[in-house]
This record gives sequence, structure tokens and C-alpha cells, in this order.
Amino acid sequence: MSVQIDHLLNESRRFAPTPEFSAQSAASPELYADAQADRLGFWSAQSRELLHWHKPFTKTLDWTNPPFAKWFEDGELNVAYNCLDRHVLAGNGDRVALHFEGEPGDSRDITYAELTAEVKRATNVLIKLGVKAGDRVAIYLPMIPEAVISMLAVARLGAVHSVIFGGFSAESLRSRIDDANAVLVITADGGFRKGRVSALKPAVDAALQSGDSSVENVLVVKRTGQDVEWNDRDLWWHDELASVDAEHEAEAFPAENPLFILYTSGTTGAPKGILHTSGGYLTQNAFTHKNVFDLKPETDVYWCTADVGWITGHSYVVYGPLANGATQVLFEGTPDSPHPGRWWEIIEKYKVSILYTAPTAIRTFMKLGRQIPQKFDLTSLRVLGSVGEPINPEAWMWYREVIGGNITPVVDTWWQTETGAIMVSALPGVTETKPGAAQVAIPGIAIDVLDDDGTHVGHGNGGLLVVTEPWPAMLRGIWGDPERFKETYWDKFEGTTGAKGGPLYFAGDGARLDDDGDIWLLGRVDDVMNVSGHRLSTAEIESSLVAHPLTAEAAVVGASDEVTGQAVVAFVVIKFSQAETASHEDINAVLRAHVAQQIGAIARPREIFIVDELPKTRSGKIMRRLLRDVAEGREVGDTSTLADTSVMQIISQKMK
Ligand code: ATP
Ligand code: MG
Repeated sequence: MSVQIDHLLNESRRFAPTPEFSAQSAASPELYADAQADRLGFWSAQSRELLHWHKPFTKTLDWTNPPFAKWFEDGELNVAYNCLDRHVLAGNGDRVALHFEGEPGDSRDITYAELTAEVKRATNVLIKLGVKAGDRVAIYLPMIPEAVISMLAVARLGAVHSVIFGGFSAESLRSRIDDANAVLVITADGGFRKGRVSALKPAVDAALQSGDSSVENVLVVKRTGQDVEWNDRDLWWHDELASVDAEHEAEAFPAENPLFILYTSGTTGAPKGILHTSGGYLTQNAFTHKNVFDLKPETDVYWCTADVGWITGHSYVVYGPLANGATQVLFEGTPDSPHPGRWWEIIEKYKVSILYTAPTAIRTFMKLGRQIPQKFDLTSLRVLGSVGEPINPEAWMWYREVIGGNITPVVDTWWQTETGAIMVSALPGVTETKPGAAQVAIPGIAIDVLDDDGTHVGHGNGGLLVVTEPWPAMLRGIWGDPERFKETYWDKFEGTTGAKGGPLYFAGDGARLDDDGDIWLLGRVDDVMNVSGHRLSTAEIESSLVAHPLTAEAAVVGASDEVTGQAVVAFVVIKFSQAETASHEDINAVLRAHVAQQIGAIARPREIFIVDELPKTRSGKIMRRLLRDVAEGREVGDTSTLADTSVMQIISQKMK
């Protein structure tokens, strides 16, 4: 039986790199040629060039016990030294590492020398508190410099961090602390959010209330100055940092020393505790950060808007940029507070040249209208990146035109918590880009799209995205659960192997190869609909809806249907400028006809519901499984990782 996903949407716009851009770009076509000629040799050369190894490695990859990979196994390095000390030693201590922009408008520039000094002190505090290499430390902080400092201090010591997004509840915090047996929690009194103070420490107190946890101390950063309850295990960050020595010499650890545990976003179900290690992870992050964003550390100002609580924050706020000695913006707040132009104001203020954000943010700005960004000077921007969900071609075009002044390359980067670093992306200056497509595996990465039985789908067809060869930043497991690691990612294509004989990694995402062999992400395999025997992806129908001038955002799901097996049901958010003018009946008819006309009658939604907001995870991804519950009239499932649970209540009520 074929499970190929049908392809409906056609996108013919193309943007070739300008000769000026290509002449100066970090990436070049030789990268692909080198990786093609000798994949492991390519990664070992990149690793030696991009990182400082205290003890050079002699082996690149051990894949004798798949799916457990070892990269650069006999080498030794210190991850924090790579992100800090070596830049200072190279004479770049005065370069700004972080332009911190607080939510209330406070700001602070921190140079590499200053950041290194702070991390050294923080490391000495951890030592004083008895933290040793291999111990787990939970970090529950807002987007403030201390979050970055804490992560690097833990890494410097060879310990393992588990960052828990500051918006999570006491229960989520407790389950993650217990899962990892953390010995220390680093938190803050609170943080600022949308003009208000929000408390953090009470959640830690509640999480540890029962007293039977592995946590020995809680280190508390003073951010807001609000009143906090104090327990015997609590210590102030500033007191502790002042009490220790300023010097700390970084020790080398084996390349496979664990670096962190991080839980996935929970879009499809219960989050998984993903384990990453040091040498391979840092290699692929430094490589992709340099080449995918065309980083020039001497002149660029880079800004990734992700929270450090997510993988994008780990890889592209902390490890990739700092390993490369970049100057970046760290922003505590939200895009719309105190005014809807806050992001654009920050770009103008710091002359940001590289912006990396998510489609959900871009669509929100589209909903508000282009007049807001157009009030600001965005001409410093020269590369734009997207991550987290498929970016609809219309959102891609808007990003390029309105934010990028019709000139900047836009790179759509596909990857996951599990992959640790970017896997599929155009390279600016090299790739001719296509709106909505992630396009090509980065050099040294082997991607394929397969039918359910493991056959390559061929150009023009859709199927399942797989990684066919081990990669440096790959997950090394699910913390404490090797069986779940195998089952979730490696058992799907049992018996089908990559070129070097190992098993294939199943990503859980649908993808299509176009006639040029470029990759288009189609959404989660779990969300694929079956309408009258046609397998339809969410991404293409959503993109068609978003391409209509009325629509700002759309989510489609398959609901059971007596006639067609499943029917397409859409949930749409209407643009502000259009919301007043048309009736719901009109919008419904117009959009149904639009989808039928643009991609075919088979994809025409049976129903379209107009909603004010879509249910999203805290990392900004649409949670279609909840909408499917609504569309099929079921009780709505687990909403614990939703950013705003009231969204589902409002939608459910509307349906009744
Ligand atoms: P869970 O695995 O718990 O359901 P999650 O998959 O949302 O959570 P993440 O690791 O944060 O957790 O997200 C990775 C997923 O995000 C990918 O598998 C893919 O579905 C989606 N994604 C990321 N980048 C892109 C992109 N550029 N295009 C399309 N989809 C993307
Ligand atoms: Mg996932």
C-alpha cells in the first residue's frame, strides 16, 4: 500500500542570491562538494577549524553500536572555554557578547571579557555548593543574562543542565527535576512580562515543598526585587558570586560528556527528555550558525528571538553564536509590549543584521499589518531565518518584502530538539531560494524522503522525512529510557539501512521532494488526513488559506466523515484590517472556493471556523490534535503544554 502524501500546492517564485551577496558569503558550493567527497573527513575538518580541542581527537565517528553514536570520542574539550575564554585570549574580550534588552526597557551590554568573568565566578559558586561533573542542574529563569551565564557555568564544570521554560508550572518543574535527579535549581525572584512583574520562585518552592527531592540548594537571581519566601536551602546569586574567587581554569572533558537534557515542546504528546553531548553538538552548531546565517562575527549583530527554554535558544542563542564569537541581542520581553513595534524598535536600536524567528511570530505581525514595521529603520537586516513550523509561502514573502526590504535572503531551517542543530536549510549566497521550502540538507547531513515501506519516493512525491546517516549533533538518547529512544526514532524502518549500514532516523514529519529534489516540509505525519483515499498534508492547505488576503493564520485537521472517511476542517484567524468588513458566511464561502480553486476540490474544507486565536504550545507551534478533538466533538485532550488554555475553552464553546 502506498502511503505517499499527495502534493497539491504549486509555488513557482524563485530568488537567486545577488552576486554581491555571494561574493562575500561565508558559505560556498565547495562545502557541499567537500562533504560529498568525504563526509566524515568534512566534519572532522570543520570541528578542528571551528573549535578548540584541549586534546585533539583521532577518531571521527563510532557507529558500531547503532543507534548509539560517538563523535570525536577520544578528543577532549571544554564547551564553555570554546564559547568564552578563547575569544578573550584571541584579543576579542572587548567585543559585545550580549546586548541585553530587558522587558521594562533597562539594557546592559556585556562583553566577552565580562561574560567570561561572570561565568568563572558562577562556576566557582557551583563548586562551592558541591556540584560535580555529571551532576544535573535545573535552570528555571527568565530571558536574562544569568540564564546564559548559568548554562555556561554548568557546562564549564562538565555538569549537565536541564533548562525548564520559565512559563511552566510547579508540577512541570517538579517532574523534570525528578526525572533528572537535579541537585541544584537556579531561578529568579521573578521576571517581567507584558509590563507586569511575574513571580518565578514560588513555583520552585511549590515544586520542592514535599521535601523529598534530590535538590540540595536553590540559587536565586534578584531580577524584579519582589518579596520572596526564604528557605534554608535558598541562596542569593549575587551574594554567592561575590563570595568566590574570580579565577577558574577550564578543565577538558571527553567529547561525549553529557552537556544537557532538554524536553521537546510537547506538540504531539508528552515531552521527551532529550540528551545531548559536547563535541559533536558544538561542532554542528558552530558550523550551521556560521554558514546558514552568513555570520561575520566582527560586524554582524545577530538576534534569535527564541527563549533559552527551547532547543532554538540552546543552540542558536547560547552555544552556536557564542562558540562563533558573535554579538547578539538577548531580549526578555514579548513582541507586543509595551507597543506592537517593540521588536522593530530593537532592530533599529542595535542595527540587527541577522534575525532568526518563528512563523508564528511572522503571521502575528502579518495579522497586525505592515504599517507597524514600516515605521522603523530595518535596513541593517541582511539575513532572515525561520524555524519551528512550516513557513507558508505567503508568510515567507511577507517576511522578505516587509522585514527584509525585498532583498535579504530568507532561510527556512528544519530541525528538532532531537537533531540538536539545523539539518535542512538553504545557504545564503549559494542557494536559489523558494518561498515555503526548507530545500536542501546542509553539507554533511544525509536526508531522504521515504514511503512507509522504506522506498525512496522520488522527485515530485511526498512521504516521511528520515535522516539516513548519523550526524554530529544528534541526540544520544532519551534520558534514562534507551528503549523509548529506539522505539520512537529508530524502529520505524527496521530492516532498512543507510549507506553505511546503520538504522534510519524517523523524524515524525512529512515531507515532499519537488522536481528539483528540494525538500518541502508538510507537517506532522500524525496530522496527515485521508480524504477519499487521498493523503493530504496540513501544511499545503494551511498555506493556501494563508495566501488569501483575508487570512492571517490557519490550522486544518481531518475530522471523521461518513462519506469521505475524513474531511478537512479549518480554523482560521482573520486579519485585523479585514475582520470588520465581511460576514462569517461570506468568509466561509470565499475561503472554501479559494482553496478549491488554488489546490483542488479534494482539499476544500467541509467547514471553516473563524476563531480569534489558535491553540499553541508555549514554543509557538499549533496544536492540531486539540482542534481535531473539537472537530470530532470529543472531550479536548491534554492541554498542559498549551501557552493559553483559555483559547481551547473559547473555541470549544463556539462549536457548540
Ligand atoms: P514533541 O516532539 O514533544 O511533540 P515538538 O516536536 O513540537 O514536540 P520541537 O523539537 O521543539 O518539539 O519541534 C520540532 C518540530 O518542529 C519538527 O519535528 C517539525 O515538526 C517542526 N519544525 C521545526 N522547524 C521546522 C521547519 N523549518 N519547517 C517545518 N517544520 C518545522
Ligand atoms: Mg517532536
